Amino acid sequence: MTDPVPGWLTEARRICVLTGAGISTDSGIPDFRGPQGLWTRDPEAEKLSTLQYYVADPEVRRRAWQARSKHPWHAQPNAAHAALVDLERQGRLLALVTQNIDGLHQAAGSSPERVLEVHGTVHEVECLSCHDRTSMRSALDRVEAGEPDPACLRCGGILKSATISFGQEMDERVLGAAAEAAADCDVLLAVGTSLRVWPVAGLVEIAAAHGARVVIVNAVPTPYDELADLVVREPIGTALPPLLAA
Ligand SMILES: [Zn+2]
Repeated sequence: MTDPVPGWLTEARRICVLTGAGISTDSGIPDFRGPQGLWTRDPEAEKLSTLQYYVADPEVRRRAWQARSKHPWHAQPNAAHAALVDLERQGRLLALVTQNIDGLHQAAGSSPERVLEVHGTVHEVECLSCHDRTSMRSALDRVEAGEPDPACLRCGGILKSATISFGQEMDERVLGAAAEAAADCDVLLAVGTSLRVWPVAGLVEIAAAHGARVVIVNAVPTPYDELADLVVREPIGTALPPLLAA
């Protein structure tokens, strides 16, 4: 940061943070939706994340389990995740809303109760019939042991990562809590998100409508840059720590 951090940001006490894929690319997690994203380059890959195809086609499920086994499971949180842990320690973090499914905020040390995963998590699997939740690790152990499409051990239903696929309802409680935090914050800080995916993008409007300042840290322009009080284009890992220093 060459410019000084504005006083209103240093003085903010109820910061609602919204994170997207950009915060995890430094950790080696691919951005699925971005210009160089996996889905942009390979539309077939998007099928694996579409509920309708997943339910209808065992071959899609088999490929989805193969893709999950290749997820960068050893990815480590980076300096930007650490800056948000520090923000919580300062007592200034109201909520950490994330579009990411990688669990890296919790791995960095953010309190699980502060993290609202609007697109779910890849660390758990959920049965589409009885909604039983188990660990991803236990499901992948079964895949590696030779079950190409492991079924629910309780009811025989279809198992899927506990992420929100296309065509799947988001969790109303998580969304409600995120909207509440956006309405109650003094600063909404959006990091590494293109702000083009609803309803998450709408959180910026909710915050602004309730009088919060808006800060956007992202590599490329977003539809909300004009509404923002501060837009930062520098790399997230170097921009975030000084912005959020106590
Ligand atoms: Zn089940």
